Amino acid sequence: MRILIVEDEPVLALRLQQTLEAAGFVVDVAYDGEEGWHLGDTEPYDAAVLDLGLPKIDGITILRRWRDAGRTLPVLILTARSRWSEKMTGFQAGADDYLTKPFEMDEVVYRLRALIRRAAGHAQPELACGKLHLDSLAGRFSFDGIPVQLTAQEFRILSYLMHHAGKVVSRTELIEHVYDRHFDRDSNVLEVLIGRIRRKLGAEMIHTVRGQGYRLAEAAAS
Ligand code: CA
Repeated sequence: MRILIVEDEPVLALRLQQTLEAAGFVVDVAYDGEEGWHLGDTEPYDAAVLDLGLPKIDGITILRRWRDAGRTLPVLILTARSRWSEKMTGFQAGADDYLTKPFEMDEVVYRLRALIRRAAGHAQPELACGKLHLDSLAGRFSFDGIPVQLTAQEFRILSYLMHHAGKVVSRTELIEHVYDRHFDRDSNVLEVLIGRIRRKLGAEMIHTVRGQGYRLAEAAAS
């Protein structure tokens, strides 16, 4: 899952980035409103963490522009402002959730995981596909009740496929949601990682749909 952070305070932006990366997200950071608006408008993020007070374009304007352009990504607003009227403005502009500074870093992680899960159409925090389970709040996979050990990259790939289980996910879509904007899209690292995940779960969990992409699906009964 790929997150956009728009935050002009470098120390806070770095702490957010490190926290979210440690939690298994891939992160792009924009330090002003113009770059933040542009990235959110052109890249397919799974969610954004948006500060309100920003240089060049303020957070509310960014959010209004995204929503006017039909961008549906979940947006968690961060702000030092705690007055209800200001929060209301944020919700009216299309915010999904709100955190007032200072906040616990873990709270950002949990709120984002819940926002992303619901945006993908899942009501419950536990996602299942056959014997494969994802505790989406804790960020842990198990297979047939046994914890699955995954590297950070493997986790991101499997997590994206799990949120979209049963659907064909193209190679391009997968790359856009598990790597940041600097990733070399011509490399074959994705194929290598899919191969590693298959060795851990059994080859039948991730189907290659020729010419279209990958689909996570329950193994056919044998
Ligand atoms: Ca700020």
